[in-house]
This record gives sequence, C-alpha cells and structure tokens, in this order.
Amino acid sequence: MNNKEKQWVENFMAQIVAKNPNEPEFHQAVREVAESLAENIVADPALQQLKILERIAEPERVIMFRVPWLNDRGEIEINRGFRVQMNSALGPYKGGIRFHASVNLSIMKFLAFEQTFKNSLTTLPMGGGKGGSDFNPKGRSDNEVMRFCQSFITELQRHIGADTDVPAGDIGVGAREIGFMFGQYKRLRDEFTGTFTGKGLDWGGSLLRPEATGYGLCYFTQQMLATRGDSFEGKTVLVSGSGNVAQHACEKATALGAKVVTLSDSSGYIYDADGIDEEKLAYVKLLKNVYRGRIKEYCEKYPSAKYFAGERPWGVKCDIALPCATQNELNGEEAQRLIDNGCKCVAEGANMPSTPEAINIFLTNRILYAPGKASNAGGVATSGLEMSQNSMRIKWTKEEVDEKLHSIMQNIHEVCVKYGSEEDGYVNYVKGANIGGFMKVANAMIAHGCV
Ligand code: NDP
Repeated sequence: MNNKEKQWVENFMAQIVAKNPNEPEFHQAVREVAESLAENIVADPALQQLKILERIAEPERVIMFRVPWLNDRGEIEINRGFRVQMNSALGPYKGGIRFHASVNLSIMKFLAFEQTFKNSLTTLPMGGGKGGSDFNPKGRSDNEVMRFCQSFITELQRHIGADTDVPAGDIGVGAREIGFMFGQYKRLRDEFTGTFTGKGLDWGGSLLRPEATGYGLCYFTQQMLATRGDSFEGKTVLVSGSGNVAQHACEKATALGAKVVTLSDSSGYIYDADGIDEEKLAYVKLLKNVYRGRIKEYCEKYPSAKYFAGERPWGVKCDIALPCATQNELNGEEAQRLIDNGCKCVAEGANMPSTPEAINIFLTNRILYAPGKASNAGGVATSGLEMSQNSMRIKWTKEEVDEKLHSIMQNIHEVCVKYGSEEDGYVNYVKGANIGGFMKVANAMIAHGCV
C-alpha cells in the first residue's frame, strides 16, 4: 500500500470504529477487506462516490430479540437472539446460526460481513447474513434445546423465508438444532419450503451438506498445494476443533493420503502421533455428535495419544495446518511456531481463526495461506445447492453434489489466483478472495442504485 492508500484505510476505519464502537471482531474483519481493496478503491472514483464499501459495511438490517424459554426445572431463562441481514445484492441473505455463550453483536456482524464476500465467491445467488444466540447448548437436555429453538424461531420466523433469508448451522447448531428450528418454522408458517439448509436427508436436506465445509476445505488446499507441485500425500496435518468442520477436514485429508495428528476443543487438544484414521474418526464422531463428550476422552479410548489441557495444537510439528474451531484461535506467536516447525500451508476451515498478526507472518514468510472466506466456502456453496434442489423439488446424488462442490472450490481458487497474484508469482489469497468477492457485490449494488 502506498501512503495515499494507507491514509484512505485509516480514514475509512476511523468511521467504522466511530459508528460501531465496542465491536473488535467486526473492526478486524472490515480492516482486512479495506486493506485488500485500498488500491482498487483509491484508483476508482466511482467506487468512492457510490460509497460501495461503506454501504457493504452497514448491515441492511439487524434484528435483536428476547428469547425466553423454560428449562427442565420449570424456570424461565432468557437469552438474546440475533440475525444480521448484511447484504442482499446477490440473492436472499444466507448464513449460519451460531449458539455459543460468546455470541454478541460484534461477532454476528463480523460473520455476516465475511459471509457476503464468501457467498459472492461461490458464484451462487446468495446474499450475506448471520445469526445466533448467546445460548450455550452444552449440558442442556434435548428437550431444553428444543424449547430454546422453538422460542428462537417463534420470533425469527417473521424475518426469514426461502426467498428472503435462509439460515443454516454453525458452531453449536447441527442437525438436531436445524430439525427443531425447521419444525417450529413449518408449524408457524404452514409451509414446507427450503427456508433452512443443513436439513435432514429425509426431509429436504442435500447429500454431502454435513461434509461439505471440511471436504471443500481439503479440495481448496489440494489446489493450493498443486500450485507448488505438491499434494496431501504423506503430509502431517494439524486440525483444530472437533466439530462438524474439523471432523470432515480430518476425514478428507486422511482419504487424500495425509496423517492428521491433532484435534481439539475449547478445553485442550489431543495429539495422536499414529494419526487419526478412519476408525478413530468414527469414534470421534460418536463421542462429539451423539454423546456430546469432550475431546480428552479420546485418550481414554486410545491411550497412546496425549491430551494437553488448556492448550492449542499449533506447537506440534506439521506440514499443513487447518484451523477449524473458531475466530482468533491462532495468534502471531503460534504462527511463528508453525513456520519455525516447517509448516508450508495454512488453510482456514473456521471463520477468521488467524489473528492479523498471524496472517502477516504467513504472508511475510510466503507460505500458502488461505482465508476462511475462500477455503471454507464449500459449506455455504452446498447450502446453495440444497436451495436449488429444494426449489426444483429434486435430489442430486452424492456424486453429483461432490462434482459441483469440487468445481466451485476450483473456481474460487482460480479467482484468488486471478486477483491475488503478485509480481514475484506469490499468490496472496487474502487479497484475491477479498477483491474477487467484492467485485460481484459492487457491480450488483451499482446496478441496483442507491438502496
Ligand atoms: P461445531 O459446533 O460443530 O464445532 C466447533 C468446534 O470448535 C468444537 O470442537 C468447539 O469446542 C470448538 N470451539 C468453539 N469455540 C471455541 C473456542 N472459543 N475455543 C476453542 N475451541 C472452540 O462448529 P463447526 O464445526 O460447524 O464450526 C467451526 C468453525 O467453522 C466456525 O468458525 C464456523 O463459523 C466455521 N464454519 C462452519 C461451517 C459449517 O458448515 N458448519 C461453514 C463455514 C465455516 P467446544 O465443544 O469446547 O466448544
């Protein structure tokens, strides 16, 4: 960036911070995009006059609401619900619902902002949105989760719809929660439509949707590695998290010939030097998805593995790191340790898992680094495919969906290379994803006028 561009970024960010105080995650996500786009925006008076990025950074609508519900002891509990409808230039708002104690407006807005660019990159007709609640499903009975979901949807139903806003899952929201939310939505609205994605396979869900984020992440990583004549074959891989994205990233990386040696949750990580193979992963799925247990229990089942309480996996020697847990889970110090240990590729399954300091270290060291909005877009892309199947009232085979997912991830990779290639041939995927994602949204907004 030259001085003029730097000045533009600082002025732009000063407005964002003043307008959105106490929203650090939102500032972080917007700054990253502003820095990537500075050159294009400073060089284009139309983008400045039409205030395209200023408009993208202002949600079209934010819905915040009370979610009262009864716990198993008959007591009233009150949570806060959110839906941020960020941008509908390319299609209905689309993005997940997160249930986690940490959920607040800043986190919802950063996720909805990122989602807008990610959805654009998929080339499917989807705008950007995100929602959730500070409800913590851990330790709650199925009935409590159901009552919470019903109360949440009783309010949210008036703001969503198959052509308006289509939620999906995210942290703390999987098949069980989507089922409860869809059931209540269907009952209140008296319609069976594709208003949610991630639905069960028997009632409108798409084959491969549960696997899509983790699989897509590995397809994208394959493409990145191929730019250096490399592949997953024989590589040691670190995965963080042990939820939906982590499980399927582990599964696909293993199928592609890599050895995944770590998984984690918010309490610590496990290290299995022998690799988490198909059989061990089947146990993890049972442990996390059915028994809703903790990852440390892995070591009771497989005693040769080690558990590190309160730690993250980034100090383990590896070739490839796939952060798949949550935002800001990999800081500058940990990024440096990855580099020092010979890591050559970091691709994000989670949204914004690397801090700005970490990203800077990856880019400075010229390793392959993919931001989540490019590398984890396979999930929402397959949600887009689920929407198409629902609208057409048909069901594609697993092979058909996988082929489309493959080609979408390949296309996103090509866009990143197109917009992110630097003079020395290094591909800056951050820049590539941000510019590539922005262009389509900007063009649509210009066409739609001042709305
Ligand atoms: P899950 O709820 O299935 O799993 C989340 C995992 O991350 C759990 O292992 C959880 O551990 C861990 N985790 C959550 N919060 C923290 C924290 N503060 N510190 C450390 N670990 C934490 O969620 P998903 O797998 O669906 O989502 C993971 C990430 O991927 C998120 O960033 C999400 O936004 C992103 N993503 C998800 C998509 C999807 O299709 N599901 C699509 C694109 C992105 P614990 O049980 O201890 O909380």
